[in-house]
Amino acid sequence: MRIQIIGFGLAGSWMAWELIKRGVDVFITDRYNPNSSSRIAAGLINPINGTRPRPTWLADVLMPFAYCAYNEMSNHVNQRLLSQCKVRRVFITEEDVRLWEHASTRQWYGNDSAGFNVKWESLESGIWEGISYDCGGVQYDGAVVNTAGVIECVRKHVVEVDVPEVNVDFIIWCEGWEASRNELWSWLPFQPVKGEILDAIIDGPPLTTIITKSIWIVPVNDGEHTFGKQSIRIGSTYDWDDLTDVPTEQARTSLVSMAETILGRPVVVTGHRAAVRPAARSKRPYLGFHPTHRKHAILNGLGAKGALWAPWAAHQLADHILDGAALNSETNVVRWWNQ
Ligand SMILES: Cc1cc2nc3c(=O)[nH]c(=O)nc-3n(C[C@H](O)[C@H](O)[C@H](O)COP(=O)(O)OP(=O)(O)OC[C@H]3O[C@@H](n4cnc5c(N)ncnc54)[C@H](O)[C@@H]3O)c2cc1C
Repeated sequence: MRIQIIGFGLAGSWMAWELIKRGVDVFITDRYNPNSSSRIAAGLINPINGTRPRPTWLADVLMPFAYCAYNEMSNHVNQRLLSQCKVRRVFITEEDVRLWEHASTRQWYGNDSAGFNVKWESLESGIWEGISYDCGGVQYDGAVVNTAGVIECVRKHVVEVDVPEVNVDFIIWCEGWEASRNELWSWLPFQPVKGEILDAIIDGPPLTTIITKSIWIVPVNDGEHTFGKQSIRIGSTYDWDDLTDVPTEQARTSLVSMAETILGRPVVVTGHRAAVRPAARSKRPYLGFHPTHRKHAILNGLGAKGALWAPWAAHQLADHILDGAALNSETNVVRWWNQ
Protein backbone atom coordinates (compact mmCIF):
# COMPACT_ATOMS: atom_id res chain seq x y z
CA MET A 1 0.00 0.00 0.00
CA ARG A 2 1.13 3.58 -0.72
CA ILE A 3 0.09 6.50 1.45
CA GLN A 4 0.82 10.20 1.08
CA ILE A 5 1.15 12.38 4.19
CA ILE A 6 0.82 16.15 3.89
CA GLY A 7 2.63 18.02 6.68
CA PHE A 8 5.71 16.93 8.62
CA GLY A 9 5.24 18.00 12.22
CA LEU A 10 4.62 15.68 15.16
CA ALA A 11 1.36 14.47 13.61
CA GLY A 12 2.96 13.67 10.24
CA SER A 13 6.01 12.09 11.89
CA TRP A 14 4.05 9.73 14.13
CA MET A 15 1.63 8.93 11.30
CA ALA A 16 4.54 8.01 9.05
CA TRP A 17 6.17 5.91 11.78
CA GLU A 18 3.03 3.90 12.47
CA LEU A 19 2.46 3.24 8.76
CA ILE A 20 6.05 2.25 8.07
CA LYS A 21 5.85 -0.23 10.97
CA ARG A 22 2.87 -1.79 9.16
CA GLY A 23 4.78 -2.10 5.87
CA VAL A 24 3.21 0.86 4.05
CA ASP A 25 5.20 2.92 1.51
CA VAL A 26 5.02 6.47 2.88
CA PHE A 27 5.54 9.70 0.93
CA ILE A 28 5.65 13.02 2.79
CA THR A 29 5.17 16.52 1.42
CA ASP A 30 5.92 19.40 3.77
CA ARG A 31 6.04 23.15 3.37
CA TYR A 32 9.01 23.62 5.70
CA ASN A 33 8.34 26.17 8.42
CA PRO A 34 11.05 26.72 11.05
CA ASN A 35 8.33 28.16 13.30
CA SER A 36 5.91 25.27 13.07
CA SER A 37 4.31 24.33 16.37
CA SER A 38 6.27 21.06 16.55
CA ARG A 39 9.59 22.79 15.97
CA ILE A 40 9.28 25.23 18.84
CA ALA A 41 7.23 23.22 21.36
CA ALA A 42 8.76 22.54 24.75
CA GLY A 43 7.55 18.95 24.47
CA LEU A 44 6.22 18.67 28.01
CA ILE A 45 4.12 15.72 29.05
CA ASN A 46 2.29 16.82 32.18
CA PRO A 47 -0.34 14.42 33.53
CA ILE A 48 -2.11 17.15 35.54
CA ASN A 49 -3.46 20.33 34.02
CA GLY A 50 -5.32 23.49 34.89
CA THR A 51 -5.64 25.99 37.69
CA ARG A 52 -8.26 23.61 39.05
CA PRO A 53 -5.99 20.60 38.67
CA ARG A 54 -7.22 17.42 37.04
CA PRO A 55 -5.62 14.55 35.17
CA THR A 56 -5.35 15.11 31.47
CA TRP A 57 -7.84 13.33 29.16
CA LEU A 58 -7.36 9.52 28.99
CA ALA A 59 -4.19 9.85 31.04
CA ASP A 60 -4.36 6.22 32.15
CA VAL A 61 -4.12 5.08 28.51
CA LEU A 62 -2.15 7.86 26.89
CA MET A 63 0.69 8.27 29.40
CA PRO A 64 1.94 4.66 29.31
CA PHE A 65 1.29 4.51 25.56
CA ALA A 66 3.39 7.62 24.91
CA TYR A 67 6.27 6.50 27.14
CA CYS A 68 6.38 3.14 25.39
CA ALA A 69 6.12 4.63 21.90
CA TYR A 70 8.90 7.20 22.42
CA ASN A 71 11.14 4.62 24.04
CA GLU A 72 10.57 2.22 21.16
CA MET A 73 11.36 4.95 18.61
CA SER A 74 14.41 6.05 20.65
CA ASN A 75 15.77 2.49 20.69
CA HIS A 76 15.19 2.17 16.97
CA VAL A 77 16.94 5.41 16.03
CA ASN A 78 19.51 5.22 18.84
CA GLN A 79 18.70 8.67 20.18
CA ARG A 80 16.90 9.58 23.40
CA LEU A 81 13.69 11.38 22.47
CA LEU A 82 11.90 11.36 25.84
CA SER A 83 13.37 12.27 29.21
CA GLN A 84 11.36 11.45 32.30
CA CYS A 85 11.54 14.03 35.05
CA LYS A 86 9.64 15.40 38.01
CA VAL A 87 7.09 18.18 37.67
CA ARG A 88 6.80 20.51 40.66
CA ARG A 89 3.63 22.49 41.17
CA VAL A 90 4.32 25.55 43.29
CA PHE A 91 1.71 26.75 45.79
CA ILE A 92 2.15 30.44 46.42
CA THR A 93 -1.22 31.22 47.98
CA GLU A 94 -3.62 29.36 50.29
CA GLU A 95 -6.01 29.26 47.32
CA ASP A 96 -3.49 27.14 45.37
CA VAL A 97 -3.48 24.67 48.26
CA ARG A 98 -7.27 24.64 48.51
CA LEU A 99 -7.70 24.00 44.77
CA TRP A 100 -5.23 21.13 44.86
CA GLU A 101 -6.80 19.51 47.90
CA HIS A 102 -10.27 19.86 46.47
CA ALA A 103 -9.27 18.45 43.09
CA SER A 104 -7.06 15.64 44.27
CA THR A 105 -9.60 14.25 46.70
CA ARG A 106 -12.77 14.77 44.69
CA GLN A 107 -12.19 14.86 40.96
CA TRP A 108 -9.62 12.29 40.03
CA TYR A 109 -11.81 9.28 39.70
CA GLY A 110 -14.42 10.69 37.29
CA ASN A 111 -15.14 9.26 33.84
CA ASP A 112 -12.78 11.64 32.17
CA SER A 113 -9.71 10.40 33.95
CA ALA A 114 -10.84 6.76 33.96
CA GLY A 115 -9.51 6.24 37.45
CA PHE A 116 -6.01 7.41 36.63
CA ASN A 117 -4.13 7.61 39.86
CA VAL A 118 -1.40 10.23 39.70
CA LYS A 119 1.16 9.45 42.33
CA TRP A 120 2.24 12.70 43.91
CA GLU A 121 4.28 13.76 46.90
CA SER A 122 3.75 16.86 49.01
CA LEU A 123 6.48 19.45 49.35
CA GLU A 124 6.67 21.30 52.65
CA SER A 125 6.66 25.09 52.48
CA GLY A 126 10.22 26.38 52.26
CA ILE A 127 12.96 26.96 49.71
CA TRP A 128 13.50 24.27 47.08
CA GLU A 129 16.33 24.77 44.56
CA GLY A 130 16.25 28.48 45.32
CA ILE A 131 12.48 28.76 44.76
CA SER A 132 10.27 29.86 47.60
CA TYR A 133 7.27 27.55 48.00
CA ASP A 134 5.42 29.84 50.40
CA CYS A 135 2.53 27.41 50.83
CA GLY A 136 4.34 24.24 49.83
CA GLY A 137 3.72 22.33 46.65
CA VAL A 138 3.51 18.89 45.11
CA GLN A 139 5.63 16.89 42.73
CA TYR A 140 4.82 14.03 40.38
CA ASP A 141 6.24 12.29 37.30
CA GLY A 142 6.23 13.93 33.87
CA ALA A 143 8.45 13.98 30.81
CA VAL A 144 9.97 16.18 28.13
CA VAL A 145 10.00 15.11 24.48
CA ASN A 146 12.48 16.37 21.90
CA THR A 147 9.77 17.18 19.35
CA ALA A 148 12.07 18.54 16.64
CA GLY A 149 14.25 15.46 17.20
CA VAL A 150 11.30 13.16 16.46
CA ILE A 151 10.80 14.81 13.06
CA GLU A 152 14.49 14.51 12.19
CA CYS A 153 14.60 10.84 13.22
CA VAL A 154 11.53 9.93 11.19
CA ARG A 155 12.87 11.90 8.21
CA LYS A 156 15.56 9.23 7.75
CA HIS A 157 12.87 6.59 7.16
CA VAL A 158 10.51 8.27 4.71
CA VAL A 159 10.51 9.45 1.12
CA GLU A 160 9.98 13.21 0.89
CA VAL A 161 8.40 14.52 -2.30
CA ASP A 162 7.90 18.14 -3.38
CA VAL A 163 4.51 17.55 -4.94
CA PRO A 164 1.91 15.00 -3.82
CA GLU A 165 2.26 11.54 -5.39
CA VAL A 166 -0.45 10.60 -7.85
CA ASN A 167 -0.62 6.85 -7.40
CA VAL A 168 -1.41 6.55 -3.72
CA ASP A 169 -4.19 4.67 -1.95
CA PHE A 170 -4.81 7.32 0.70
CA ILE A 171 -3.80 10.86 1.58
CA ILE A 172 -3.49 11.76 5.26
CA TRP A 173 -3.57 15.45 6.08
CA CYS A 174 -1.34 16.51 9.01
CA GLU A 175 -1.20 20.22 8.26
CA GLY A 176 -1.37 21.57 11.80
CA TRP A 177 -3.41 24.74 12.24
CA GLU A 178 -3.32 25.48 8.49
CA ALA A 179 -5.95 22.76 7.98
CA SER A 180 -8.46 25.34 9.23
CA ARG A 181 -7.92 27.12 5.88
CA ASN A 182 -8.11 23.96 3.76
CA GLU A 183 -11.56 23.60 2.12
CA LEU A 184 -11.44 19.86 2.58
CA TRP A 185 -11.30 20.22 6.38
CA SER A 186 -12.44 23.74 7.21
CA TRP A 187 -15.83 22.37 8.38
CA LEU A 188 -14.06 21.06 11.49
CA PRO A 189 -14.27 23.47 14.45
CA PHE A 190 -10.64 24.47 14.80
CA GLN A 191 -9.54 26.98 17.45
CA PRO A 192 -5.93 27.75 16.48
CA VAL A 193 -4.04 29.49 19.24
CA LYS A 194 -0.71 31.26 19.13
CA GLY A 195 1.89 30.45 21.78
CA GLU A 196 5.16 32.14 22.63
CA ILE A 197 8.17 30.59 24.35
CA LEU A 198 11.45 31.97 25.70
CA ASP A 199 14.94 30.54 25.94
CA ALA A 200 16.72 32.05 28.91
CA ILE A 201 19.59 31.78 31.37
CA ILE A 202 19.44 31.96 35.13
CA ASP A 203 22.04 32.04 37.84
CA GLY A 204 21.93 30.40 41.25
CA PRO A 205 20.90 26.94 42.40
CA PRO A 206 20.22 24.71 39.37
CA LEU A 207 16.71 23.45 38.66
CA THR A 208 16.33 19.70 38.30
CA THR A 209 12.57 19.56 37.78
CA ILE A 210 9.95 21.20 35.61
CA ILE A 211 8.29 24.02 37.56
CA THR A 212 4.66 24.84 36.96
CA LYS A 213 2.52 27.69 38.25
CA SER A 214 0.36 29.33 35.51
CA ILE A 215 3.43 29.09 33.27
CA TRP A 216 6.03 26.31 33.13
CA ILE A 217 9.81 26.52 33.43
CA VAL A 218 11.84 23.66 31.98
CA PRO A 219 15.52 23.17 32.82
CA VAL A 220 17.58 22.37 29.74
CA ASN A 221 20.24 19.62 30.03
CA ASP A 222 18.37 17.84 32.81
CA GLY A 223 19.88 19.99 35.55
CA GLU A 224 23.38 18.65 35.07
CA HIS A 225 24.74 22.06 36.00
CA THR A 226 26.32 22.81 39.30
CA PHE A 227 25.66 26.16 40.97
CA GLY A 228 25.95 28.78 38.24
CA LYS A 229 24.44 29.65 34.89
CA GLN A 230 21.71 27.36 33.62
CA SER A 231 19.62 27.33 30.44
CA ILE A 232 15.88 27.14 30.82
CA ARG A 233 12.78 27.38 28.61
CA ILE A 234 9.79 29.42 29.74
CA GLY A 235 6.30 29.17 28.32
CA SER A 236 3.82 29.72 27.19
CA THR A 237 1.15 32.21 26.19
CA TYR A 238 -2.27 31.75 24.55
CA ASP A 239 -3.58 34.21 21.94
CA TRP A 240 -6.59 33.29 19.78
CA ASP A 241 -6.62 36.56 17.78
CA ASP A 242 -3.13 37.04 16.41
CA LEU A 243 -2.41 33.92 14.32
CA THR A 244 1.09 34.92 13.22
CA ASP A 245 4.43 33.49 14.26
CA VAL A 246 5.75 36.93 15.21
CA PRO A 247 7.03 37.15 18.81
CA THR A 248 5.58 40.07 20.80
CA GLU A 249 7.06 42.34 23.45
CA GLN A 250 3.92 41.89 25.54
CA ALA A 251 4.34 38.09 25.75
CA ARG A 252 8.04 38.40 26.52
CA THR A 253 7.47 40.89 29.33
CA SER A 254 4.71 38.83 30.84
CA LEU A 255 6.63 35.51 30.70
CA VAL A 256 9.78 37.11 32.18
CA SER A 257 7.82 38.77 34.95
CA MET A 258 6.00 35.54 35.91
CA ALA A 259 9.22 33.50 35.75
CA GLU A 260 11.13 36.00 37.91
CA THR A 261 8.32 36.00 40.48
CA ILE A 262 8.39 32.21 40.70
CA LEU A 263 12.16 31.82 40.61
CA GLY A 264 12.95 34.84 42.77
CA ARG A 265 15.93 35.75 40.59
CA PRO A 266 16.60 37.58 37.31
CA VAL A 267 16.03 35.84 33.98
CA VAL A 268 18.16 36.74 30.95
CA VAL A 269 16.33 36.05 27.69
CA THR A 270 18.43 34.54 24.90
CA GLY A 271 15.69 33.50 22.46
CA HIS A 272 12.02 34.15 21.80
CA ARG A 273 9.78 32.31 19.34
CA ALA A 274 6.12 32.00 18.48
CA ALA A 275 3.98 29.46 16.63
CA VAL A 276 0.32 28.56 16.22
CA ARG A 277 -1.01 25.43 17.92
CA PRO A 278 -3.57 23.36 15.99
CA ALA A 279 -6.23 23.31 18.68
CA ALA A 280 -9.68 21.75 18.32
CA ARG A 281 -12.80 23.21 19.93
CA SER A 282 -13.59 19.77 21.38
CA LYS A 283 -10.12 19.67 23.01
CA ARG A 284 -9.66 16.21 21.47
CA PRO A 285 -7.59 15.10 18.48
CA TYR A 286 -9.34 15.06 15.09
CA LEU A 287 -9.01 11.65 13.43
CA GLY A 288 -10.61 9.76 10.59
CA PHE A 289 -11.70 9.69 6.97
CA HIS A 290 -13.41 12.57 5.23
CA PRO A 291 -17.12 11.64 5.20
CA THR A 292 -17.47 12.01 1.41
CA HIS A 293 -13.91 12.03 0.01
CA ARG A 294 -12.97 8.59 1.26
CA LYS A 295 -9.43 8.67 -0.08
CA HIS A 296 -8.66 11.47 2.37
CA ALA A 297 -8.06 11.20 6.13
CA ILE A 298 -6.85 13.59 8.82
CA LEU A 299 -4.76 13.63 12.00
CA ASN A 300 -5.01 17.03 13.61
CA GLY A 301 -6.30 18.98 16.63
CA LEU A 302 -3.29 18.16 18.81
CA GLY A 303 -3.57 21.57 20.51
CA ALA A 304 -1.16 21.95 23.40
CA LYS A 305 -0.86 18.18 23.86
CA GLY A 306 0.94 16.98 20.75
CA ALA A 307 3.77 15.29 22.64
CA LEU A 308 1.32 13.13 24.57
CA TRP A 309 -1.40 12.63 21.97
CA ALA A 310 0.45 12.20 18.66
CA PRO A 311 1.80 8.62 19.15
CA TRP A 312 -1.57 7.25 20.30
CA ALA A 313 -3.57 9.20 17.72
CA ALA A 314 -1.38 7.99 14.86
CA HIS A 315 -1.64 4.40 16.11
CA GLN A 316 -5.44 4.67 16.25
CA LEU A 317 -5.68 6.13 12.77
CA ALA A 318 -3.30 3.59 11.25
CA ASP A 319 -5.39 0.72 12.67
CA HIS A 320 -8.54 2.41 11.40
CA ILE A 321 -7.26 2.92 7.86
CA LEU A 322 -5.54 -0.43 7.43
CA ASP A 323 -7.71 -2.78 9.52
CA GLY A 324 -11.01 -0.93 9.90
CA ALA A 325 -10.57 -0.68 13.70
CA ALA A 326 -13.05 1.67 15.37
CA LEU A 327 -11.87 5.13 16.39
CA ASN A 328 -12.49 6.55 19.83
CA SER A 329 -15.86 8.28 19.33
CA GLU A 330 -14.65 11.57 20.85
CA THR A 331 -11.95 11.84 18.20
CA ASN A 332 -13.77 10.69 15.05
CA VAL A 333 -14.21 13.70 12.75
CA VAL A 334 -17.48 12.31 11.40
CA ARG A 335 -19.26 13.68 14.47
CA TRP A 336 -18.65 17.24 13.18
CA TRP A 337 -19.99 16.66 9.65
CA ASN A 338 -23.19 18.66 8.92
CA GLN A 339 -23.13 20.44 12.26
C1 LIG B 1 4.90 27.84 22.28
C2 LIG B 1 4.41 26.44 22.18
C3 LIG B 1 4.74 25.54 23.17
C4 LIG B 1 4.25 24.23 23.12
N1 LIG B 1 4.61 23.37 24.10
C5 LIG B 1 4.11 22.11 24.07
C6 LIG B 1 4.45 21.20 25.09
O1 LIG B 1 5.20 21.53 26.01
N2 LIG B 1 3.91 19.94 25.04
C7 LIG B 1 3.09 19.56 24.02
O2 LIG B 1 2.64 18.42 24.01
N3 LIG B 1 2.76 20.41 23.03
C8 LIG B 1 3.24 21.67 23.04
N4 LIG B 1 2.91 22.53 22.05
C9 LIG B 1 1.94 22.07 21.04
C10 LIG B 1 2.58 21.17 19.98
O3 LIG B 1 3.57 21.94 19.36
C11 LIG B 1 1.52 20.71 18.98
O4 LIG B 1 0.51 19.97 19.63
C12 LIG B 1 2.08 19.82 17.87
O5 LIG B 1 3.41 20.08 17.62
C13 LIG B 1 1.28 19.97 16.59
O6 LIG B 1 1.84 19.16 15.60
P1 LIG B 1 1.24 19.10 14.12
O7 LIG B 1 2.10 18.17 13.37
O8 LIG B 1 -0.22 18.83 14.18
O9 LIG B 1 1.36 20.58 13.55
P2 LIG B 1 2.65 21.41 13.06
O10 LIG B 1 3.77 21.25 13.99
O11 LIG B 1 2.15 22.80 12.82
O12 LIG B 1 3.07 20.77 11.68
C14 LIG B 1 2.36 20.94 10.49
C15 LIG B 1 3.30 20.93 9.31
O13 LIG B 1 2.56 20.87 8.10
C16 LIG B 1 3.04 21.82 7.17
N5 LIG B 1 1.95 22.14 6.25
C17 LIG B 1 0.78 22.76 6.53
N6 LIG B 1 -0.01 22.80 5.41
C18 LIG B 1 0.69 22.18 4.43
C19 LIG B 1 0.41 21.88 3.05
N7 LIG B 1 -0.75 22.19 2.48
N8 LIG B 1 1.37 21.27 2.32
C20 LIG B 1 2.56 20.92 2.89
N9 LIG B 1 2.86 21.16 4.19
C21 LIG B 1 1.95 21.77 4.95
C22 LIG B 1 3.49 22.97 8.07
O14 LIG B 1 4.39 23.83 7.41
C23 LIG B 1 4.16 22.19 9.22
O15 LIG B 1 5.49 21.85 8.90
C24 LIG B 1 3.40 23.83 22.04
C25 LIG B 1 3.10 24.73 21.03
C26 LIG B 1 3.59 26.03 21.10
C27 LIG B 1 3.26 26.97 19.99
